[in-house]
Formats: sequence, structure tokens, C-alpha cells
Amino acid sequence: MARMTQLLNLKAEMRRCRRCMDAGYPTAPGAVFSGTLGARVMVIGQAPGATESASGLPFCGPAGRRLFGWLADVGWQEEAFRATHYITAVTKCFPGKGTGGRGDRAPSRVERELCAPFLARELELIAPGVVLAVGGVAIRRLLGPAPLGDRIGERFLVNGRIVVPLPHPSGANLWLNRPESRELLRRALDGLRELREAEGI
Ligand code: SF4
Repeated sequence: MARMTQLLNLKAEMRRCRRCMDAGYPTAPGAVFSGTLGARVMVIGQAPGATESASGLPFCGPAGRRLFGWLADVGWQEEAFRATHYITAVTKCFPGKGTGGRGDRAPSRVERELCAPFLARELELIAPGVVLAVGGVAIRRLLGPAPLGDRIGERFLVNGRIVVPLPHPSGANLWLNRPESRELLRRALDGLRELREAEGI
């Protein structure tokens, strides 16, 4: 089957998927992702928020504004980036609000595993050369467990792809408040700018 047909089938399957709700989680149906074949960069976040779930557009809420601010610093303007590259998440449906009043509920291990085959198929079909792993959930999915401070500011080669970890851009991410974290983020963005220029992406 042609790759475009496979991708269209995958997208339809993701949009129809109700596995997390069927497993009893308070997830809102409606997988959120964007992009198509030919994307050389794939952004993988944690899960969409309420704004993304309502609009169907990944990273279009406050966290997305911060992420695209970082990417603009690297040399990627939002409109062009969205038109050229692929954006998805470890779990593709809005998991609902967290109980603590700050931020969204983090998808459980079960939900992450339920959604993992979709992410594997997206990676196989899109075959990006560079993956931006945004937030601890995405970073652990791609690189395994380690403190965030050991990941941000570095780049990794996984299955022939360059993985660049970035912190979660949510305002609820207190990790970003520490001066040493901001320094690691600065290093990550400097490295990403060099990579973008070197790869012509
Ligand atoms: S998060 Fe993934 S596995 Fe869960 S319902 Fe949405 S698409 Fe399906």
C-alpha cells in the first residue's frame, strides 16, 4: 500500500480510537496531530490540552505559544514549521485536568502503552531525521528514564534519528523556574539552531 494511503488510514484510525475511554480513563475523544509525509522533523509532546482538543491543532494553547517562541529563537517560524513538519504526542487525546488544580492530568502508564503503537507507526511512516521530544513523558518514551537535567541540552542518536529533548513548555512546569534549568534550555536551543542550520531543515 502506498505510504500516503497508509498514513491516511493511520490518521483515520487515530481519530476513531476510543481505547483509553474503553479502559475507563476520563480521556476526551479526538486524537490531535498534524503534518504529512516529507516532514523531516517530528515534535512529540506529552498529550494535547483542552485548547488543542477543541481546535484539533497541536500546541495551539499557552504551552504551544511558549514552544513556538523557543522554536522561533532557533529559526523556525510557526506557520512555516506547522506547514512543513509533523507534530504529535505520546498520547493523542486530551487526558483531562489534573486533580491538583495545576495543569492537565498526566497520561497513565496504561494510556501511554495503549497509544504507543500509533506513535511507532507515525515514526515509521514519517521517518523523521530529527525528533523533538517535548517534556518528560516524551523524553522517557524515546530515551528511557533519567533526570531531566541529564537530558535537556544534549542530543541523542536513536534508531538512526537525532532526538533532541526539550522541557515541557507548560506554565505548570516548575522545572523551568530554576536558573540552572533555564541555562540547560538555552544550551538545548543553541544546539538545535546549529542542527537546523547544518541539516538545512
Ligand atoms: S490517547 Fe491514543 S490510545 Fe488513547 S484513545 Fe486517544 S488515540 Fe486512542
